[in-house]
Amino acid sequence: MSKPKRGVPEGLWIRCPSCKAAVFRKEAEARHNVCPECDHHFYVPARDRIQQLLDEDSFEEWFADLQPKDALEFKDRVVYSQRIVAEQAKTGMNDAAVVGRGYIRGRAVVFAVTDFAFMAGSMGSVVGEKLARSAEEATRLMLPLIIVSGSGGGARMQEGILSLMQMAKVSAALGRYDRAGGLYLSILTNPTMGGVAASFALQGDVTLAEPGAMIGFAGRRTIKNTIRLELPGDFQTSEFLLKHGFVDRIVHRKDLRTELARLIDYCEH
Ligand SMILES: [Zn+2]
Repeated sequence: MSKPKRGVPEGLWIRCPSCKAAVFRKEAEARHNVCPECDHHFYVPARDRIQQLLDEDSFEEWFADLQPKDALEFKDRVVYSQRIVAEQAKTGMNDAAVVGRGYIRGRAVVFAVTDFAFMAGSMGSVVGEKLARSAEEATRLMLPLIIVSGSGGGARMQEGILSLMQMAKVSAALGRYDRAGGLYLSILTNPTMGGVAASFALQGDVTLAEPGAMIGFAGRRTIKNTIRLELPGDFQTSEFLLKHGFVDRIVHRKDLRTELARLIDYCEH
């Protein structure tokens, strides 16, 4: 085992996957988990995201007691029911989404975020139910709705059709919210893939993305093997999607809160 130099414990430094620099973790954290060398946006846990975007102590969590179930008794390498327990222990979350109500620079919003750390942020019944209820509450309260997606997993295969139907369920709730005149701001972070990209993540009235996020439906290799064509280097990035009209604006993480407040004011007044 390689010992870290000069007694620096492991975990104090992180290797930036983009510029390969060794970054002092504390320094990255002070910059909203952004690389101080190259602006690479590192992963942010749901709880930190809430702190970054909402006014201090303003978040009131909803539906926190919803628990995932292994309805199909699904087994891949691990039995799903055991996987749930392990993921809950690892993350301290019941499932991959946290939703509730809070304030952004004094503006009341319904806020939801999916967390990659819990089964790649995949959308099973609990994530779908929490997001659908968020849209319904936003409709009832007539508040702006903000969903931050950090879901690499898309639909959660361990829940089979029950997870696929969440795409339709959340979309339908967002449709009713839209018809009621609601404002839905979608924030795409790295990664936003599969059934999440194919449903709520790309249904925003305004779609913002963090720089350099991977966003798409099928993975790059799958598409390449299917169409047998070379894909552009920036394929399935925020920048590529902005160029092609799927993303409205790319916003640096440090500016997200201000940008959201500005958009709410612009759209609501
Ligand atoms: Zn970097």
